Amino acid sequence: MKIYNFAAGPAMLPKAVMEKAQAEFTNYQNSGSGLMELSHRGKLFEPVLARAEANVRELLNVSDDYAVLFIQGGASMQFAMLAMNFLNGGVADYVDTGVWSSKALKEAKMFGSVNVVASSKETKYDHIPAESEWKRTADAAYLHITSNNTIAGTRFTKLPKPTPGVPMLSDMSSDIMSRPFDINDFGMVYAGAQKNLGPSGMALVILRKDLAARTDDSKVPTMLRYSTYIENDSMFNTPPTFAIYMLALVTDWVREQGGLAAMEKINEEKAAYLYDFLDNSSFYKSPVAKADRSIMNVVFRTPSEELDAAFVKEAKENGLTELKGHRLVGGCRASIYNAMPIEGVKALVEFMKKFELANK
Ligand code: PLP
Repeated sequence: MKIYNFAAGPAMLPKAVMEKAQAEFTNYQNSGSGLMELSHRGKLFEPVLARAEANVRELLNVSDDYAVLFIQGGASMQFAMLAMNFLNGGVADYVDTGVWSSKALKEAKMFGSVNVVASSKETKYDHIPAESEWKRTADAAYLHITSNNTIAGTRFTKLPKPTPGVPMLSDMSSDIMSRPFDINDFGMVYAGAQKNLGPSGMALVILRKDLAARTDDSKVPTMLRYSTYIENDSMFNTPPTFAIYMLALVTDWVREQGGLAAMEKINEEKAAYLYDFLDNSSFYKSPVAKADRSIMNVVFRTPSEELDAAFVKEAKENGLTELKGHRLVGGCRASIYNAMPIEGVKALVEFMKKFELANK
């Protein structure tokens, strides 16, 4: 049976990437060693790191004003690290659009004051608060957003504009590389790799270099300063070589697909297929404001919690795995990142039709 994995992360990777990694696993470029066994400063690994960076720069159109960094600890460590480096007892603006945003702002409170410019918490994060109503701080150290909310299933369909003079920072863990955006609107973007980039445990960080000078070196440990990663090309210590290698392979694949404009077209098509079905069904419901619906994480419910559970179980028996909603919100969730083919989404909709008929 063909399996389609709808997990939110770690998530499905392109099959061609998995097969290439498998082929190179024990004997990388006929060296007799696997990639994971190679020195990070050796002749074979260095081009891998360089390719990962070059791919990111090309795909996201990143200029030399920005550093492309690979940092261990995932996106959650960035919640603390960015505040440690940039807040310095000042005020930071946060848009609270979901569980991950609220975790990010909780960390920032340890290093200064947090102004929540807008929040959709009271309505269970079912929408993105209108930008026109945000209460921004004119001289904030930075403005932080979460571009896609993995758990609630919402996204900034249109990314906001920064407050003049205030760097805008975004957690893009669950939608990086899914659509084009202008990096020059941001002081920094970061993403845990385990959805659209590769293995978990590493964050891709793209940072405007001048911001690194804001860090008070006497207060922030060496390994937690962005300047350390910039000055050492992400190799101050032994970097996560396997995760960087996988990111290079995944970004090679994104380039082969035609880059981010092509990726967005396919992603929009996949999401539209699923949302059109949901909108025409009286059985399934999407709890999310239409204009703010994520094209990566599609959250939906059946008429009852019992049916939600039966749906997840039976879907799995039919080769459609990991459809359970996040434990904090319940219901069902189909994560359809870059690697999910349209055939997977079609198979899901076919199963949803059958389940509806059997349980109406
Ligand atoms: N931010 C978002 C939007 C996420 O979806 C996640 C979860 O995977 C995280 C942050 C946390 O990432 P990590 O597990 O790499 O710390």
